[in-house]
Amino acid sequence: MKKNYKMDVYIDYDDCVVNSSSMIAAYYNNKYKDHPVFSPAIGSDIYYYDGRKQMPLADKKDILDVFNSDFFFENCKFMPYAEIVINNLNNYGLFNLHIISIGTKENIAKKRKWIKENLPFIEDENIILIERADCAMGKSEYLPKHSNFIIIDDHEENLENNSMFRILFTPFGERDYNKHFEGIRLNNWLDFELYCLSCYSYIEKYNEHNKRGN
Ligand SMILES: [Mg+2]
Repeated sequence: MKKNYKMDVYIDYDDCVVNSSSMIAAYYNNKYKDHPVFSPAIGSDIYYYDGRKQMPLADKKDILDVFNSDFFFENCKFMPYAEIVINNLNNYGLFNLHIISIGTKENIAKKRKWIKENLPFIEDENIILIERADCAMGKSEYLPKHSNFIIIDDHEENLENNSMFRILFTPFGERDYNKHFEGIRLNNWLDFELYCLSCYSYIEKYNEHNKRGN
């Protein structure tokens, strides 16, 4: 193993770094609060199987509008412990941290600004923002071809890649976009910190073992 070896970590933004679902609910609740049949949406339930029940008044454009809005980026909050864990992972000096996310042109411009303001130690070239007008999932073409990297994402489609260390992040439990994944699931950031340190230690020991020719 090279000295100063750093392991690549790829971190999803929406519903991993920040609680995007709560912002969708906040936007909806604010926009439709005066409608006669309004009842408040709950962010953590929006993408449940019957998610339409949460926001019956919304149309598809509303969702795009939320993610493109200044309201989102001015009010979004880190997931619990995400900020401290990402800082810790950076401070260990063992990891090369990336943020990887999909969005519209407007969304990713605002996302980049947010990341630079809130996670200023993430290198520019490690902020991987994929412009897609329809926001379709799938990130494999932007990830390393080797398998020795960690990735965390809340959508199972984004975990279809070569990584040995794939984590499905499930802060809201089972949803229709995560129910098929058969690998490791974590529902909080503190466990992800432990997982990253374990992966690093594993790779270090594995390489030492091979170097000794055992
Ligand atoms: Mg996500």
